[in-house]
Amino acid sequence: MLSIKNLHVSIEDKPILNGLNLEIGTGEVHAIMGPNGSGKSTLSYVLSGREGYEVTEGQILYEGEDLLELETEERAHKGIFLAMQYPVELPGVNNMVFLKESLNAIRRARGEEELDSVKFMQLVKEKAKMVKLDEKLLKRSVNAGFSGGEKKRNEILQMALLEPKLALLDETDSGLDIDALRIVAEGVNALRSPERSVVLVTHYQRLLDYIQPDHVHVLSEGRIVRSGGKELAHELEEKGYSWLKEGAAA
Ligand code: ADP
Ligand code: MG
Ligand code: MG
Repeated sequence: MLSIKNLHVSIEDKPILNGLNLEIGTGEVHAIMGPNGSGKSTLSYVLSGREGYEVTEGQILYEGEDLLELETEERAHKGIFLAMQYPVELPGVNNMVFLKESLNAIRRARGEEELDSVKFMQLVKEKAKMVKLDEKLLKRSVNAGFSGGEKKRNEILQMALLEPKLALLDETDSGLDIDALRIVAEGVNALRSPERSVVLVTHYQRLLDYIQPDHVHVLSEGRIVRSGGKELAHELEEKGYSWLKEGAAA
């Protein structure tokens, strides 16, 4: 599904990712952990095609295609979805309209029929129930004045509607209380399928009690310094991240 080789990325000439390698198979759930500032969000943004991130070296293949040749919109149409660490507020843009337009753009790209308002309404209500998002929030502007938990649920709702092939979740757990965390995790677990890959970026092990990853990687100073199974997350929880640096230096 995704193959990242020797990825180097700079922001304003400052190197952030320094030779990152990562292979993600179809249907797998990978957790990316690591200290603050290690480049986790940068990795998510580069994959989703955000402006301002310069790839200076390396290669990313997505379903065998050179991902870096694709525009941001094409990446979304081809099934890449990013749930952001800090979801953007769009005052004046109605949430329901936004969700419907996003879904229909992707359906068009897939060669599927657009959903009319009635069908969309049914679908969005069903999905909103799944993530326990208050239906009133559908009528408001996108994320404007939403609480932290509501924003995260709205991101998961969008993901559930778009049914991406590669879902990137950047610290979807940060700022969530345990109930919201469980709901978000249930939403993600409901989307697990042999055709879909998930990259969970998280600073804490907590989310991984609810979403069991197939693989865990530690990002430090712009590269993956350790990979393992879900037991690695528990080890990190116990020991923190500093032992990895000591290990790397030795
Ligand atoms: P993480 O998500 O792991 O906390 P980030 O990817 O957000 O890390 O950041 C990695 C490094 O890149 C940090 O040192 C951060 O200060 C820097 N950085 C991120 N975004 C920018 C930006 N827009 N301009 C300059 N530096 C940035
Ligand atoms: Mg951070
Ligand atoms: Mg981050």
